[in-house]
Amino acid sequence: MENKKYKGKSTEAIHAGEALPVLPTGAQDQQAGKTGIPLLPPIYQNSTFRFQTAEEFASAFIDEESGYVYTRWGNPTQKLLEQKLAVLEAGESALATASGMGAISTALLTALADGGHVVAMENLYSATYNLLNEEFPRMGIETTFVDATDPNKVESAIRPDTKVIYLESPTNPLLKLVDLAACAEIAKAHNITSIIDNTFATPCSQQPIALGIDVVLHSMTKYLSGNGAVIAGAIVGEKEFIVRAQKGALRNFGAVISPFNAWLTLLGIPTLPLRFARHCENAAHIAAFLETHPAVAWVRYPGLPNHPQHDLAKRQMNGFGGMITMELKGGRAAGEKFVNQLQICALAVSLGDVRTLVCHPASTTHSHIPTEVRQQTGITDGLVRFSIGLEDSEDIIADLEQALETLPFYSEI
Ligand SMILES: *Cc1c(COP(=O)(O)O)cnc(C)c1O
Repeated sequence: MENKKYKGKSTEAIHAGEALPVLPTGAQDQQAGKTGIPLLPPIYQNSTFRFQTAEEFASAFIDEESGYVYTRWGNPTQKLLEQKLAVLEAGESALATASGMGAISTALLTALADGGHVVAMENLYSATYNLLNEEFPRMGIETTFVDATDPNKVESAIRPDTKVIYLESPTNPLLKLVDLAACAEIAKAHNITSIIDNTFATPCSQQPIALGIDVVLHSMTKYLSGNGAVIAGAIVGEKEFIVRAQKGALRNFGAVISPFNAWLTLLGIPTLPLRFARHCENAAHIAAFLETHPAVAWVRYPGLPNHPQHDLAKRQMNGFGGMITMELKGGRAAGEKFVNQLQICALAVSLGDVRTLVCHPASTTHSHIPTEVRQQTGITDGLVRFSIGLEDSEDIIADLEQALETLPFYSEI
């Protein structure tokens, strides 16, 4: 792990982990004594590595620290990204993976290597919910879903065979928060591994390991890469856990990141603190605008004083993020009409992009869920989720305003 300490997140995002020794550019250059190291880390887009001697080859097999063998086992571009991730999340070690789901499944398969039970937040990211609710039961792993906004409910659901407490905060799409320090304490008291998906908050806003959480996960597809160019994920935790994950579930199930995607993610991370600050600033303006609009029933944003857990947000987060959820007064018809009118904001799933993305869950991401079940979990018909981008907030507001004005409810006023 990186031993240099930086005062701020921006320096960290730019410089952390870049102490990786650069592999020789080529025998000819070495012989010619050429100096100069690429400022932007090069990409090692190769599947395998060659050795000079049988002895070197043999020792790389015995002691993996001594060399690179095969990219599914490790690659310098992946390694560089992993060193940066460990520093950003203040963890001992990190693993980059092929996707956020690759990180989630690899981490869970590692923590549940001997089977066991999971206590998980309800309203998880949909694929995570499917993994726990459909895939894992076939392997004999059961999950109890609880409203983890109340840590007592987490503790009450613990069984003798519970191995994992699995959390998200803020949650998708209702932006509920979980008291991470309280849940981490419960996990420690029961000797259970605590895991959080920190995708929505990013390491700029929330440092779960400092709050006592064991393992932090990311979909780097979102804010970390920020460029909308890759699918990628990350696991950060203690070295012992990361080594077990790498040598076991990652290598054998194979959710390995490609060097090219690792490199594209490395291009995104240095601007994360700057981007995140702007996402937060824009979202604050837009949440305030939406809150006063007569076509909007309510707005949920952790930075608004009317968020039910605003105090926890202030205590636990450093910046309230770029995600906003609102309910339109006109229900499903209003939701669909509204998104059809948008010009700048793009209709798309995903989040953390430089562009503002908008999604109407009732007609898209959550349309497969029976209406009553959907309503019970708070995914109402007029719900619209925004991932606020980096455009000028005046332009985003103007776009939202012209779309809201077309709603029948608005013209009745
Ligand atoms: C997108 C997302 C995931 C899944 O990540 P992929 O990179 O799409 O595999 C997991 N958790 C959260 C909170 C997400 O937003």
